[in-house]
Amino acid sequence: MSQYPKITLHNGKEQPVLRFHPWIFSGAIKLIDTSLNDGDVVEIYSAKQQFLGMAHYQKGSISARIISFSKQAINIDFWTKKIEKAFQFRQFLNLTNSPQTNVYRLIFGEGDGIPGLILDFYNGHIVLQAHSIGIHKSRYDIAEALRKIYGTQLLSVYDKSSETLPSNYASTIQNQFLFGDCNQELIVLENGVNFYIDFIHGQKTGFFIDQRDNRALLGSYSKGKRVLNTFSYTGGFSMYAAKNNCDVIHSVDSSASAIELCNNNAKLNKINNHQGFAVDTFDYLKDQGKNYDIIILDPPAFAKSRDVSHNAVIGYKRLNQMALQNIKKGGILFTFSCSGVIDKKLFYNTVTAAAIESRKNLKLLHTLSQPADHVITPNFPEGEYLKGLVFYVD
Ligand code: SAH
Repeated sequence: MSQYPKITLHNGKEQPVLRFHPWIFSGAIKLIDTSLNDGDVVEIYSAKQQFLGMAHYQKGSISARIISFSKQAINIDFWTKKIEKAFQFRQFLNLTNSPQTNVYRLIFGEGDGIPGLILDFYNGHIVLQAHSIGIHKSRYDIAEALRKIYGTQLLSVYDKSSETLPSNYASTIQNQFLFGDCNQELIVLENGVNFYIDFIHGQKTGFFIDQRDNRALLGSYSKGKRVLNTFSYTGGFSMYAAKNNCDVIHSVDSSASAIELCNNNAKLNKINNHQGFAVDTFDYLKDQGKNYDIIILDPPAFAKSRDVSHNAVIGYKRLNQMALQNIKKGGILFTFSCSGVIDKKLFYNTVTAAAIESRKNLKLLHTLSQPADHVITPNFPEGEYLKGLVFYVD
């Protein structure tokens, strides 16, 4: 079988691929045997003509992303097998049939062996986000595979890729349902807490599923506490604090629509000690001495590339300093970074530097990461992006 065009690598460049790293950088490529279009499926070979994998080609610094390390046709059968494997792992994690949780990440790109694909499951509805053109070109086959796997449990598949693909390609597509629709208000359950989901208008795929375990941990500290949740979005952490009988919960987000959803989520969960503020977190924290027992900082990625990581460090330091000024003695700081280019050590050093300048003593309670459905594998360490630290503040 060789129905696909071939890419041959320079001598030695097969090494990372033999260790199952799925990216082929442009500099590794010696020869492309025919003219290719972005999104084409190709076969990758070493300089000695050893088959290495099937990949999606896309011109750029990462020129090919391997979707299979064995030779096979890329069709509905292929997608079904791949996604079924990921589904089985979520079954193992007790996410697919839980009375407490019906929102989870089904495919996390490279972590699930499918670079470029994100699939999030929201109580019967799946949002597909393609980060490569090859994945987007396969979207109908992927939707078909999902129908085979979920059967009547699947109500819709919505393609939301217009923000995640290169602009020249994205301008030719529209976000749309690939199957079914979602006309009613969608409510999901996460660890027994209810949330409205608006995946069409909301940020990313609609909800930050990656904080599930960390929200539960926050809940366990919240009883009787005055809690501030900054960068709250639709109130993930806030609802857990309230459900666990905090004294007061304040949510702060610069997006008015996020705060509106936050307030609606509070109503949905019959919470009456919640207040939302549609303001900038840096402004909100400016006056010192607000005396919270717990502050949560979960900002968007301050750095998307290494060139700006220095500015990001300054941003994280300032933010953590401002939060520490507003936490009571004996309180707790929950602080996060989702910038891939800020590693664990640098984040830890940044937060502790903020504490030194604020003249606060910290005691480390927890180091946090992403939940297991946001799969981290040894062959793709780049997949670990969420870092969290929980400190007791003196
Ligand atoms: N913690 C949230 C997810 C946070 S996403 C959850 O568990 O769901 C980051 C949020 O920060 C977004 O909602 C965005 O609107 C908000 N944001 C970005 N910059 C901000 C700023 N300067 N002040 C307040 N909110 C901001």
